[in-house]
Amino acid sequence: MTKLLLALCGCVILIAQEKVAREKVDEVTAARLKSEEAEHSQLMRTVHMLTDRYGPRVTGTPNHEAAAKYLVEQFNRWGFRNAHLEPWDFGHPGWTNERAAGFIVSPVKENLKFEVLAWTPSTNGTVTASTVQLVPPQGPEIPANPQAAGFGGGRGPRRQGPTRDEFETWLAANRGKVHGKAVLIGKQTIVPVDFNPPAKRRPEDQVRAQYDPDNPNGGRGGRGRGGAIDPNRMTAAQVTEAIDAMLLKGGAVMRINDAARGEGVIVAQQNRAYDPAKTVPTVILRNDDFGRIERLLADGEDVKVEFHIVNKAYPEGKTSYNVVAEIAGTDKADEIVMLGGHLDSWHAGTGATDNAIGSSIMVEAARLIQSLDLKPRRTIRVALWSGEEEGLLGSLAYVKQHFGSAENPKPEFAKLDCYFNVDTGTGRLLGAGVFGPPEAAAVLRPVLKLFSDWGIAGANFTSSRQTGGTDSTSFNNAGLPGIGMQQDPIEYNSLTHHTNLDTYERLIPEDVTHAATILSAAVWHVANRDEMIPRFTKDKMPPPVAAR
Ligand SMILES: [Zn+2]
Repeated sequence: MTKLLLALCGCVILIAQEKVAREKVDEVTAARLKSEEAEHSQLMRTVHMLTDRYGPRVTGTPNHEAAAKYLVEQFNRWGFRNAHLEPWDFGHPGWTNERAAGFIVSPVKENLKFEVLAWTPSTNGTVTASTVQLVPPQGPEIPANPQAAGFGGGRGPRRQGPTRDEFETWLAANRGKVHGKAVLIGKQTIVPVDFNPPAKRRPEDQVRAQYDPDNPNGGRGGRGRGGAIDPNRMTAAQVTEAIDAMLLKGGAVMRINDAARGEGVIVAQQNRAYDPAKTVPTVILRNDDFGRIERLLADGEDVKVEFHIVNKAYPEGKTSYNVVAEIAGTDKADEIVMLGGHLDSWHAGTGATDNAIGSSIMVEAARLIQSLDLKPRRTIRVALWSGEEEGLLGSLAYVKQHFGSAENPKPEFAKLDCYFNVDTGTGRLLGAGVFGPPEAAAVLRPVLKLFSDWGIAGANFTSSRQTGGTDSTSFNNAGLPGIGMQQDPIEYNSLTHHTNLDTYERLIPEDVTHAATILSAAVWHVANRDEMIPRFTKDKMPPPVAAR
């Protein structure tokens, strides 16, 4: 290494240290926020109301709207200003399941455990039908991505879809078999016993390395499932839509899908047409029940089932709402620090870990600042989104309406400091990922460091404008500083995410009250700095990516 280079390195280190040194943290207020949360937390009360009283909160439903209105009332009671609902166009009617019962009635008598797929129709009263099992063709297995972090819970392998030709041949051979029948679609997924259940907390050294500013590989851990998809094959959505059309036309009574997960876990999301007229009544049956019927059918038995399902549509759900409330700023009141999460959920549980708890953490973080009557320099704005589960729709609409994008900015684009988001369950906060240059992450490190005893390791940065798992990416997508908080996995991917087990019982009060405290201190910190969080300059801004 040359002397000049050495001197340069030294200089860079000095500048970096100077920057850190200049990042003053208000430790006194952080300590006050900490004791306020320890002594007067409202967090578990808020999440109790959002889950037990108003859950589940599917976008477009009266439950979601009631939860949103409850939060507006609470914000008003706590003295926030400008608490209100902001409408956006969801475009689909709301849908709820009111009653659902199912049984095997012959050759044995048994209760069935299942969930109803959203946006599918009711049965016509109580229906009884013989079952038939149809197994559509599939393509080759998609190899599991060894980088995929935290996915467990006994899921079977995934496969590619069939080619158009294979599928058409299969349809022609099977469409005559469905009239008057309850139709099981697909072979049961065999879920082996899991001898290596995923860890509930991430190892500390791994988390520290991830958020170490000097670690060049310190980006986000790999996630998702790998394997190239063959474009000549049908997608799962295309296959399911074609089967729905065939069942409807062929006069089937019910569609029964395998939950395909162990331990009684059932994930029930939506029929993607969002239109009950386009399909037959559809349930996701517990893997064990699906397997039992399959084995009895294989013995040549006539397995009869009975179902009674009552669903309801709400045309007024086409308009949905984000909840917004503020704490007024002082000398920099026109600049805004935002925090939030999505309030909507799926319907199989009460949406506790996804994401009543993230919403409650953010509501509590803001309430702590408000309850101490602190006066931030910038305006603090809490936002609880809807439509997240259907594709980040509420936050994308909000960002578009209020901020525009780096390429097409509205006046407020320049005034948003940053947006904090929580949406990965109930675990301890491990770190923050900021959209922006490295200096953006450096702003957050000193305040997060005050809470390192609670497991939070720091902050890193990302330059990805891809929309992804949650609402912070709606901000990143526009080129704004979205901040995604990462958490310990606990049982999120293995048991609770979008499942029938996502209930209040799965929450960890200590982890979430710590999270609210850390976020209140972090929000307080950025709301009072002389400068906003550094952003990408025009020439450094990564190119836009279409939201998906
Ligand atoms: Zn979520």
